[in-house]
Amino acid sequence: MQLTDEQIYARDAQDYLPVFARYKIVLDHGDGVYVYDTQGKKYIDFLGGIAVNVLGHNYPELVKAIAEQAGKMIHCSNLYYTQVQADAAEKLVKLSGFGKVFFGNSGAEANEGAIKAARKYAHSVSADKSQIISAMHSFHGRTIATLTATGQPKYHEGFGPLPEGFDYVPYNDIGALEKLMSDKTAAVMLEPIQGEGGVHVPDIEYMQQVRRLCDKYDAVLIFDEIQSGMGRSGKFFAYENFGIRPDVVTLAKGLAGGVPIGAFITTDRVAAALHAGDHGSTFGGNPLACAAANVVLDRVGTESFLHHVGEMGEYMKSRLSAMQAKHPELIKEVRGMGLILGMELSRPGREIVDACLAKGAIINCTAENVLRFVPPLIVTKEHIDEVCDVVESVLPAYC
Ligand SMILES: *Cc1c(COP(=O)(O)O)cnc(C)c1O
Repeated sequence: MQLTDEQIYARDAQDYLPVFARYKIVLDHGDGVYVYDTQGKKYIDFLGGIAVNVLGHNYPELVKAIAEQAGKMIHCSNLYYTQVQADAAEKLVKLSGFGKVFFGNSGAEANEGAIKAARKYAHSVSADKSQIISAMHSFHGRTIATLTATGQPKYHEGFGPLPEGFDYVPYNDIGALEKLMSDKTAAVMLEPIQGEGGVHVPDIEYMQQVRRLCDKYDAVLIFDEIQSGMGRSGKFFAYENFGIRPDVVTLAKGLAGGVPIGAFITTDRVAAALHAGDHGSTFGGNPLACAAANVVLDRVGTESFLHHVGEMGEYMKSRLSAMQAKHPELIKEVRGMGLILGMELSRPGREIVDACLAKGAIINCTAENVLRFVPPLIVTKEHIDEVCDVVESVLPAYC
């Protein structure tokens, strides 16, 4: 039976755990950078499923690979080998230059695995080496360990007791980190660009000092690139922008273009601490997800594709900066890298997001007052103009 939108809202209210502040549209299908609701209304999608649909919607090659793999085998246990998983792992090892990959099903799971790897490695050095340091305003996921690593008290409230050994420092403040670190530090976990926290880009010198401190104390440097990786910054890995390499990097969101997957990639040195039985996943890296990831990695992991992301990012940033010049009271700052861009407002952003939606543009607001743009990486200048024209047209009403 085909439900009306009103019936779907009513069912959701009745049946679904009310954890999402949803927008009142029912989406039906997508095509490239556009999605369509059940009324046939077209929206330009500059959220991309929150940095997930890197190749846009219904990318033909991706759809074909998924359909072909589904026709062969959707899933098999990790007790057996598959070529699609071996291919996906090899691509990530080649792109990163790291030694080992592990596949899970989500960002939180990728980070959970990274934390486990770091703790296991640290305990192989010394029994009391267990401290995990993360940044304030970070976001690392919703499992108990990853929400504990998330440096935002609102995510912790009501879920205690939380696991021990987690500490927090202000982001981009090397003095605070230096004070807290010691031989007991097992890991420092950072987003190279903070996404949910409001699109914050740290200084190059800060990141290089973080690397030095981790070397000094033999602490595992974990970069959570679940949002900023997969080409989004204009480099395949966001860390490439800072001239350093972490010891563990996590990916998820864009990795399979929308099919659930997560991965942590690490050096052979850290990986050597993990043995058969230490970690696992039923679904992680299953053939369907890996078939999708292989298409995305082949496409995104090329010079020309990454160059395109960088160019489009520059163009969009210039358009956003022009809006800031026009409305300096409303727009406090424009920041970001490549196609992870934020526009900090002097007021909450939700109403502006609603106004854009009414005009057929999907954008998002994070950290209350930061408009966030994480579109499919295949966007063109014309798409950027289309979405910027909508944003520009709604701003005057909020000045
Ligand atoms: C989205 C996100 C996560 C969590 O990913 P899930 O797939 O929702 O578990 C973790 N870290 C960062 C930086 C993210 O943006």
